[in-house]
Amino acid sequence: MKVKAAVFERVGEPIHVEELDLEDPKRGEVLVRLEAAGVCHSDYHVVKGEWESAGPLVLGHEGAGVVEKIGPGVTSVSVGDHVVLSWVPYCGTCAYCMAGKPALCPKVEETAYQNVQYDGTSRLSRGDESVPSYLATGAFADRVIVHETGAVPIRKDAPLDRAALVGCAVATGVGAVLNTADVQPGDTVLVFGCGGVGLSVIMGAGLVSAGQIIAVDMSDKALELAKSLGATAIINPSRDDVATTVRGLVDERGVDWAFEAIGLKPTIEQAYELISPGGTVVVVGQSADGVTIEIDPMVMSDREKSIIGCNYGSSRPAIDFPRLIDLYMQGKLDLDRLVGHTSSINEVNEAFTRMGQGEGGRTVILYDHA
Ligand SMILES: [Zn+2]
Ligand SMILES: [Zn+2]
Repeated sequence: MKVKAAVFERVGEPIHVEELDLEDPKRGEVLVRLEAAGVCHSDYHVVKGEWESAGPLVLGHEGAGVVEKIGPGVTSVSVGDHVVLSWVPYCGTCAYCMAGKPALCPKVEETAYQNVQYDGTSRLSRGDESVPSYLATGAFADRVIVHETGAVPIRKDAPLDRAALVGCAVATGVGAVLNTADVQPGDTVLVFGCGGVGLSVIMGAGLVSAGQIIAVDMSDKALELAKSLGATAIINPSRDDVATTVRGLVDERGVDWAFEAIGLKPTIEQAYELISPGGTVVVVGQSADGVTIEIDPMVMSDREKSIIGCNYGSSRPAIDFPRLIDLYMQGKLDLDRLVGHTSSINEVNEAFTRMGQGEGGRTVILYDHA
């Protein structure tokens, strides 16, 4: 089968769209006809060369569509199901999976992080050359093959162009609040970075009735969006000193929770500085290769400050994705506002340009199967 895909070749070159060959799904795999795909910062890390990845590679890992074919042995999804893609194709039987932490499953490292399926190969090719799918999803293609645990069935009345966002940004940001952290009603929350993940953290904080929700970003557009999604205060560090402003808004001791959704050394360190004694920094942002942070361990023990990591919002996709979709359908999770642009797959480079300019709001690619 031919698919239309956006292929990354190497850093500095625009991504180009071409036709690739897609094999049939093998054991445990499903073929999904994608309706929509979100453009995520993790794709941008590869494009910019901050994460070394060799081309050719079909990027994209946040998508939703309809199951068209299933391989032998598939039991959790059926043809015709509407699904959200998940980039943690877990095994379901290891200690991490049993503990409800599928993002830590070794299978994810062997497959998604190597851009291959369970048998170590990709289903995409051009001529004799195999073309890997980023995070074993490769959602910048109008059809994809994923492991059945990477295709999460959702209700059929949910619009797929909104559901797609649940597969990365929303699962990660809302999950960081609901699963990774333990934010209580009234707790103060500080969020660094108002991209898709940071904005989702803000929505998650709203869901649990956090007290003050303070958003920090260099882009006024992103900050406006943050405000419309529930931030009670916004800070643009190009104008205002973050530490002084935060301490003025809460109290001298700092915030209960700081979510870092950028992955930069200075902001992770500043987040740590701005949590109160007993407070916690949740590192959700993904750093470029080689970034390290410095913190004072004496302050850590003496003031009981914590810093914890969060991958994929500590999500259990099969449980969390349908719930997040339900919250959207009930009007409690405003996914509509997260979407800044819709575009065709041919305009994926422009989406990265907007991302580089720090424009708030995600680009959602819509696939045309006419
Ligand atoms: Zn992502
Ligand atoms: Zn596992």
